[in-house]
Amino acid sequence: MNLTENAIKVLKKRYLAKDENGNLLEDPEGMFRRVARTVASADKEYVSEEELKSIEQEFYDMMVNLDFLPNSPTLMNAGRPLGQLSACFVLPIEDTMEGIFETIKNAALIHKSGGGTGFSFSRLRPKGASVNSTGGVASGPVSFMKVFNAATEAVKQGGTRRGANMGILRVDHPDIVEFITCKKNNADITNFNISVGITEEFMNAVENNEYYNLVEPHTGKIVGKQNAREIFDLIVDMAWNNGEPGIIFLDRLNKDNVTPELGEIESTNPCGEQPLLPYEACNLGSINLSNMLKYVDGKPEVDFAKLRTTVWKAVHFLDNVIDVNKYPLPEIDKMTRGTRKIGLGVMGWADMLCKLNIPYNSQSSIDLAEKIMHFIQDESRKASMELAEKKGVFPYYDKSIYKNLGIRVRNATTTTIAPTGTLSIIAGVSSGIEPLFAISYIRNVMDNDELVEVNPVFKQVAKEEGFYSDELMRRIAKKGSIRGFDEIPEWIQDVFVTAHDISPDWHVRMQAAFQKYTDNAVSKTVNLRNEATRKDVADAFWLAYKTNCKGITIYRDGSRDLQVLNIGKVK
Ligand code: UDP
Repeated sequence: MNLTENAIKVLKKRYLAKDENGNLLEDPEGMFRRVARTVASADKEYVSEEELKSIEQEFYDMMVNLDFLPNSPTLMNAGRPLGQLSACFVLPIEDTMEGIFETIKNAALIHKSGGGTGFSFSRLRPKGASVNSTGGVASGPVSFMKVFNAATEAVKQGGTRRGANMGILRVDHPDIVEFITCKKNNADITNFNISVGITEEFMNAVENNEYYNLVEPHTGKIVGKQNAREIFDLIVDMAWNNGEPGIIFLDRLNKDNVTPELGEIESTNPCGEQPLLPYEACNLGSINLSNMLKYVDGKPEVDFAKLRTTVWKAVHFLDNVIDVNKYPLPEIDKMTRGTRKIGLGVMGWADMLCKLNIPYNSQSSIDLAEKIMHFIQDESRKASMELAEKKGVFPYYDKSIYKNLGIRVRNATTTTIAPTGTLSIIAGVSSGIEPLFAISYIRNVMDNDELVEVNPVFKQVAKEEGFYSDELMRRIAKKGSIRGFDEIPEWIQDVFVTAHDISPDWHVRMQAAFQKYTDNAVSKTVNLRNEATRKDVADAFWLAYKTNCKGITIYRDGSRDLQVLNIGKVK
């Protein structure tokens, strides 16, 4: 297999099966074989033994060629005792002591299995409201969020990965100001991403500079008013400060809720790409766009035939995962098998653009994004329709919008764009739909040795064009970007743009382009330079609202002490 050094390291550390002494029981091919065999086994009752073998081989080839990868829990747990294969969960939180602590327990079980959890804290009565049974007063959503955070800290996910949470509070909850500022200090509530649940009513009030009502969830009483612009500005200020909170447009999530009879969507998973009903889980998978090119007379173009067959196989794969999955709770089992949501998305988008010589920040790339995602959405739905013919529609089909539309599908949703934080490392490509973060960077390895890592697509072009040198790569690493390097041709500077070369509006427009053809949501961080102003943040929020994004997360470089990726921080 063609794996990078980083990929091998990540796989060895967390994905490959080990015995109790930590000895590896499989190599990467062995892992893909285990996953392919387990996922194919869902077809046992539908096909002959021979056909089953060829399905397994199809799944195996698609993964081993790094054309498609399922989310991490599937790679880690398929065919192993835990057997929990989904990355995304949403759990409800009831306004009772029993309810709150029941959910903490359930979240711990999910984290143990490598899944991430999202919750709405909006049903909890506000701080200071009375508690009948004790005659005392409630401590409010934020104080309980801290208990969830501490529980997550304690469950370090037995060797797989740390628990990740999303916490959401509706903008009309009386404790909204406390919520918006609860992560002001970088050291607080670190196991949560937080998002304010924004309503259309609120956005209208911001536009008209009006007050809006704060409503007590447990009584439905209006208990106060807030100036909408003041709250909006406070959210902007905090996001500028360190990236938290993000916002999600709750009414939009519910407008696209395909099973409204089953309940309201009140939260997403931790990274925001997967809105779900309470007790619903979803398994994701990503197609590596960097591999979806063909060369005609030496010129690269998108290979739509390969993309089509990869989408069909991926939908088949992800649908099978639902059947072989071991869900951590009976409620989750029922909901998830009931709606059969899957989330097929992409990674390696920036790499694909570089290979096609299209700058990320250009109308051509926006047009191509729409074309590709439209194609994936259409084909994935067709694949789901074909599966419905063979294996039946999803059990809650009669409670879905598809019934009235007369569209028979096996999966309530088929598309989601995940961050692909680790998947993209395994595939050795740019993550999700993000632009390149750096063209080259320096990694400190053992004995204080420094290793210069260069984006492989750039390295190839630099060699072809004859300007490659170790010395140049080292200089680029110090800066991250190649802007202003005279020895690099202008057109290459235009194509190989990094997150910080790109203005925030192009980030948002790219998110909107993919969202337009995605059933669920799109994970994207709108990266801003350190010098960005509060107005830049507010403008990005408005643009996300106006372009029909489902939510937005921004991050201003350097605004947290510890950040995952650094530019130019060379010792
Ligand atoms: N996730 C999690 N913990 C982590 C990383 C991810 O629970 O440390 C969950 C979370 O729900 C996130 C989803 O997995 O939204 C997908 O994340 P990503 O695509 O980065 O995961 P990968 O499959 O690449 O590991």
